[in-house]
Amino acid sequence: MNAPLPLTVTREGAGTAYDDVARVSNEVAGRLAQRLARETRGEVLFTPGDRGRYATDASIYQVMPVGVFLPRTAEDARIALDICRDLKVPVVPRGGGTSQCGQTVGAGLVIDFSKHVRHVLQVDAEARTATVEPGIVLDHLNAQLKKIGLWYPVDVSTAAQATLGGMAGNNSCGSRSIAYGNMVHNVLGAEAWTSDGALHAFGRFDESTGAARLLGERVRDLAAALRPEIEAHWPKVLRRVAGYNLDVFHNQNERPYTADGSVNLAHLLVGSEGTLALTRSLKLRLSELPRAKVLGVVNFPTFYQAMDSAQHIVKLGGDGTLTAVELVDRTMIELSLQNPAFAPTVRTALIGEPDALLLVEFAGNDKALLQRKLRELQELMGDLGLPGAVVLMSEEAPQKNLWEVRKAGLNIMMSLKGDGKPVSFIEDCAVPLQHLAEYTDALTQVFRRHGTKGTWYAHASVGTLHVRPILDMRRNGAPEMRRIAEEAAELVRKYKGAYSGEHGDGLCRGEWIRWQFGPAIDTAFGEIKRLFDPLDLLSPRRIVNPPRMDDTRLMRFPPGYKVIPLQPALDWSGWDVQNDPATERTTAPGTGGDPARGFAKAVEMCNNNGHCRKFDAGTMCPSYRVTRDEQHLTRGRANTLRLAVSGQLGPDGLASEEVRDALDLCVSCKGCKRDCPTGVDMARMKIEFLHADRRKNGWSLKDRLVARLPDYAATASRFAGVLNLRNRSGLLRALGEKVLGVSARRSLPEWQSAHFFNSGVHGASRDEVLAADRPVVLFVDTFNGFFESANAKAAFDVLRAAGYTVHVAAKKGGGGQHLCCGRTFLASGMVDEAKAKAGELLAALQPFVARGIAVVGLEPSCLLTLRDEMTAMGFGEPAQALARQSLLLEEFLAREAAAGRLDALKQKLRPLDQPVLVHGHCHQKAFGAVSPVLEVLQLIPGVQPQLIESSCCGMAGSFGYEARHHAVSMQMAELSLLPAVRSAPEAVVVADGTSCRHQIHDGAERQAVHAAVLLARQLGQP
Ligand SMILES: Cc1cc2nc3c(=O)[nH]c(=O)nc-3n(C[C@H](O)[C@H](O)[C@H](O)COP(=O)(O)OP(=O)(O)OC[C@H]3O[C@@H](n4cnc5c(N)ncnc54)[C@H](O)[C@@H]3O)c2cc1C
Ligand code: SF4
Ligand code: SF4
Repeated sequence: MNAPLPLTVTREGAGTAYDDVARVSNEVAGRLAQRLARETRGEVLFTPGDRGRYATDASIYQVMPVGVFLPRTAEDARIALDICRDLKVPVVPRGGGTSQCGQTVGAGLVIDFSKHVRHVLQVDAEARTATVEPGIVLDHLNAQLKKIGLWYPVDVSTAAQATLGGMAGNNSCGSRSIAYGNMVHNVLGAEAWTSDGALHAFGRFDESTGAARLLGERVRDLAAALRPEIEAHWPKVLRRVAGYNLDVFHNQNERPYTADGSVNLAHLLVGSEGTLALTRSLKLRLSELPRAKVLGVVNFPTFYQAMDSAQHIVKLGGDGTLTAVELVDRTMIELSLQNPAFAPTVRTALIGEPDALLLVEFAGNDKALLQRKLRELQELMGDLGLPGAVVLMSEEAPQKNLWEVRKAGLNIMMSLKGDGKPVSFIEDCAVPLQHLAEYTDALTQVFRRHGTKGTWYAHASVGTLHVRPILDMRRNGAPEMRRIAEEAAELVRKYKGAYSGEHGDGLCRGEWIRWQFGPAIDTAFGEIKRLFDPLDLLSPRRIVNPPRMDDTRLMRFPPGYKVIPLQPALDWSGWDVQNDPATERTTAPGTGGDPARGFAKAVEMCNNNGHCRKFDAGTMCPSYRVTRDEQHLTRGRANTLRLAVSGQLGPDGLASEEVRDALDLCVSCKGCKRDCPTGVDMARMKIEFLHADRRKNGWSLKDRLVARLPDYAATASRFAGVLNLRNRSGLLRALGEKVLGVSARRSLPEWQSAHFFNSGVHGASRDEVLAADRPVVLFVDTFNGFFESANAKAAFDVLRAAGYTVHVAAKKGGGGQHLCCGRTFLASGMVDEAKAKAGELLAALQPFVARGIAVVGLEPSCLLTLRDEMTAMGFGEPAQALARQSLLLEEFLAREAAAGRLDALKQKLRPLDQPVLVHGHCHQKAFGAVSPVLEVLQLIPGVQPQLIESSCCGMAGSFGYEARHHAVSMQMAELSLLPAVRSAPEAVVVADGTSCRHQIHDGAERQAVHAAVLLARQLGQP
């Protein structure tokens, strides 16, 4: 087995880098790592895990790179290029790695610009230009430009993670390309290194000098010689991204590349997929941000009608106000309706049960004009036989929400369980609009003949509809893919379209370049490559001399792909299914043939789309937001687990060091469970890892102390005074850090000798609550019971004040001992112990559940364990029944308020004249349980609670208390939570999570309260 490598090869460690790397890889890799570490300041990542994480992108391919390099500066990238040239190691540049055709996977050195080389170098508001480094993410650039009323309008669906360097590499196109064009229409210049190490300024040809001029002249001569070929073979559509842009010298695009007809040499690099030069900076043409936008959502009874109407709808855009016409088909509507995050939004757009929607957007500065355009759209639809088919959206918020669903379209589709997956290989063929209906119809028939189906969506305005037939790449997917591709290509030719209209060539479509352009132009592409990169150093075998698309040796799931048999600790059988590609129906849980009983298939749900790299709303992924490392990203973790369970990281499988490193900073926030479009649930996966790892390597004293807290809490509370000394003594704090690894900088929750469980608070008896009219069971967890008993008392009082008969849950026949959900055990990988606790809890609560009585809890991570992990512990229907009845206090109160049963409570609540800020616990967010908190707080007269847009607070159970995680924990809190709290010194801060309250206390010196406490205070209770 490979010896584990140090995580990174540092400058200090450069001396041993050669030996370390050469031993596990090869001699060239060793020399490469050593020189990179010595000669640059960048990050040198050569472990098997790092290489594995960079071996894939959002395509079906996987190729192991020699190593990965993260330049800290542009200069680092140049030096890396020089070293690679010396050692003859190919270079594969990379941004967000969201390419769908395998552009960023290759056997050389992957240079990832996205972590450090991401600055805005210059903005000229007057000239409307910006010069940026390649690693900057589009949304981050646009956030800066918004302040001056400008934006970069190539709005790809992956705007939150795609980098400008990657977008230029792929000649990306956004939903609004009908108004703004593609990347090539919006790049004004580029500074780039050719593989000989020379830096060139590529811009207007007529102003070029030196080597750039010479390169341009040679390409110009090629274009001139091939003029008839270009005219005969070049697709005459806006969306053509295949091959090199030889037509800059003889434009064939629907939209000229430049406004004045000049030739810009930077356009030769756009769409070249890193094969011609390494981009150092890009000069971009900016646009004015339209001040107003309106949206008309047209509901169509048939898909064909939607497709046929697109050609008429685009004619409404003669005045330049039409910015998008985007398709959402029936399957996508249904999948969105099944997704809790998207369903409410989709419902706002539907009239009945349409077969397809077209989202028609008009934008500009004159809102009255835009409203008129919407009326014209309504009239047009009436003329086309569809009166009353348009849902009008004039306000920003509903439009934004619907665009989010449309942008997530592909990801939603990818949530299909089983080995058959929608595969991207003909997904962006572009055809002229008048043929769109016939083309989509014909291609649907092709799918049917091959026993599969495709879901259609996206850019109807420009004839680029996305579609992915469902194929099983582990079985007959590769030959099927080729057969379908061949038939699709025939259709593209028949309708004079472009085979590659948006996502580039990569490994998947390179072989179709010759088919599309003919041998003469293909040969010319080879000459262009040799002109720019005679050494064939930059991304070899892309565009020129490409591999076959169905070469299974290059694939992530080749036919021989195997999973190491594994008996997981939790139930993953829901993922262990197969699907029928024609109907998308899945087989029964546990029948999918996964040797890891569903765990591997759950891990493999990650399709690498990179959605978890976003920094804006939502929780996912707090650790990545702090470190910006692929390793600390949900995608990086899922890839590491996939490599581990399939034996690609050695025989240790789940218990390997690579997995430990990748999961170390995962705070189990469950952000991905909700935000990842395919539902990758890394928090649950981490439990499996901890279980496997600790069983092999043993539990530390700290693990045991944390896990067993519920067992010894009652005894320990008797010694509260002594135990709390730790917080007051520097010596004890230091000792705790040395022996247990608990950060000396943290105060620990204070033990209470008088706590909820010995306070004499007696709720109703078991029999009383079973017989009551308004019964409720209060589940008081260890944290609120022993450390912050005022919270439990407050909840008890509020429920009583609202007229409920409250029973405090206690162990069955256990002398009234408190119950435990098992959360602390799960967090330490002690799944068997957690199951034992859960079993006790189930037994105690079963009679109440059978009577339909709600079980209400206070601590989100505890109560929601009943709705989440407990349902995967093998308890069957009783656990499901308990899950259905388990509610957080505010969920329960909101439900009761909606049913009109809280009038008594409302009468009793006194007004509050203070702003209220709410921080949602991550698990509350993951289960959509934050809005009930806001609703319930609004029962207090005068309260308009403000939700803090925050990710994880960073404390995350015991994570933030650990000395080795303290810094990362504080950085997570500083991302948004602590600044928001500090900026509102007069506000009451509500946070239901115990650890969130502690983090707010430690970081902002403010005492946050549980919502129950605020409610009780307003009742006049302590
Ligand atoms: C769910 C999903 C939706 C998508 N939607 C769209 C869409 O709406 N429109 C669209 O056009 N695409 C779309 N894509 C494809 C992809 O997101 C875009 O092409 C995106 O612009 C790629 O950006 P990136 O930073 O991830 O680039 P990467 O994938 O990392 O790289 C793209 C190319 O650029 C090259 N490159 C990167 N940096 C440099 C550099 N410094 N110098 C030279 N070459 C470089 C790479 O080698 C590669 O060939 C989608 C993909 C997914 C998964
Ligand atoms: S973890 Fe989820 S969001 Fe991240 S890349 Fe994988 S599928 Fe996409
Ligand atoms: S659980 Fe949270 S920290 Fe862990 S991968 Fe998911 S989003 Fe990231």
